[in-house]
Amino acid sequence: MAVTILIPTPLRPFVGGRDSLQLEARSVGELLDRLTGDHAALKPHLFADDGRLRSFVNVYVNDRDIRQLAQRETPIKAGDTVSIIPSIAGGTAVAEPLPKLSHEEILRYSRHLILPDVGVEGQKKLKAARVLLVGAGGLGSPAALYLAAAGVGTLGLVDFDVVDKTNLQRQILHGTSTVGVSKLESAAARIRDLNPNVQVERFETRLISENALDIIREFDIVADGTDNFPTRYLVNDACVLLDKPNVYGSIFRFEGQASVFHAKRGPCYRCLYAEPPPPGLVPSCAEGGVLGVLPGIIGSIQAMETIKLILGAGEPLIGRLLLFDALKLQFRELTLEKDPDCPVCGAHPTVTELIDYQAFCGIGAEPSYDGAEISAQELHDEWQRNPDLLVIDVREPHEHEIAHIDGAVLIPLGELPDRLGELDGHREIVTHCHHGARSLKALDILKAAGFSKVRSLRGGIDAWAVNVDPSLPRY
Ligand code: ZN
Repeated sequence: MAVTILIPTPLRPFVGGRDSLQLEARSVGELLDRLTGDHAALKPHLFADDGRLRSFVNVYVNDRDIRQLAQRETPIKAGDTVSIIPSIAGGTAVAEPLPKLSHEEILRYSRHLILPDVGVEGQKKLKAARVLLVGAGGLGSPAALYLAAAGVGTLGLVDFDVVDKTNLQRQILHGTSTVGVSKLESAAARIRDLNPNVQVERFETRLISENALDIIREFDIVADGTDNFPTRYLVNDACVLLDKPNVYGSIFRFEGQASVFHAKRGPCYRCLYAEPPPPGLVPSCAEGGVLGVLPGIIGSIQAMETIKLILGAGEPLIGRLLLFDALKLQFRELTLEKDPDCPVCGAHPTVTELIDYQAFCGIGAEPSYDGAEISAQELHDEWQRNPDLLVIDVREPHEHEIAHIDGAVLIPLGELPDRLGELDGHREIVTHCHHGARSLKALDILKAAGFSKVRSLRGGIDAWAVNVDPSLPRY
């Protein structure tokens, strides 16, 4: 069995376009000699005239940076993977030599070319850049559109979702004509129309510990537009391990946050939040709502920071957390310090490889609700047989106004503990909410208070609208 050597995109033309090669070698030096012996055109790109490895090239063995070791002598064995990674210079990895601009591109980007901080050189850097967007949703939409319009040469998109009508209020990459289509297909078509010079690399998958390093390794910068904590920590840790800048954005209701995490130059996300909140404490946008324009603002800031990193222009949002309050139209900025005890980027990291992020975020440990849930059709049939059955709607009054089940009693979840006295413990009770999550919390409250005949409507009023009463609007 041989050693696998991964070739970065800018160097692939010198090895027949291949992304990896298998070679026999016992040390890194021997491996690089074999490689450049077989592919002589590669040699000047890897080595300076005096035979030393060029300063913009780093070599990793099994994802470990070996610069601190005696690089050439580092032993390797069969089955190891050696990666050649062009280094980060001026905030960005720049493929050498920079690509040329076509006449069409010169015309298209003319407003950039006349900007002193961009110019032809900057535009070529944008063309050479490879940016990975994690999520093609609310934040990913404006980020992808502006990065594509600006001429970022390669955009990687990770998403596994299908466009849903409820996405269109904010996810402007997609349109009414692509409802039901995969988000990546929808996004690729929109980007192609906007700027056909952009190469879109699609990763139609959930980003998980098993694939994150392989995907992220191929890009210069990551823009994190995820909507859940396990993926956020995964993106952070993978970026720290691979030394990639992570352009962070998050949104909730009327508030947004943005920062640039690059462990080599400042704090990482874990320096800011070492641990996630317990599951359920912070509701998702699907549960809590989000103002449609907000991801447009935060995602655009992510695009701006990404472009600055590529150009090496201005002052990046490293070591600073930008807070945005849409209702007050106020930006605030907090200074972030690097945590010397950070578990991933600190002096003595305890996280040296990707972990199980679902478990880390406490997901999967929820109690089982076997037998405690009832389907919409079952509830309908049972209610007809037993009109005494009590259905409690635990949503908020403004949701009740959008749609409600006739005969259900509205008691918002937050008021339930104080209003238990209104309920008759002898009656069969079914709780319901929008999608069936809050009604399980209500069920826990009622059970803890001694109510024994309680169940929760699986899928909430949405399932009721689909399966029982199609006259109800879905939201
Ligand atoms: Zn850190």
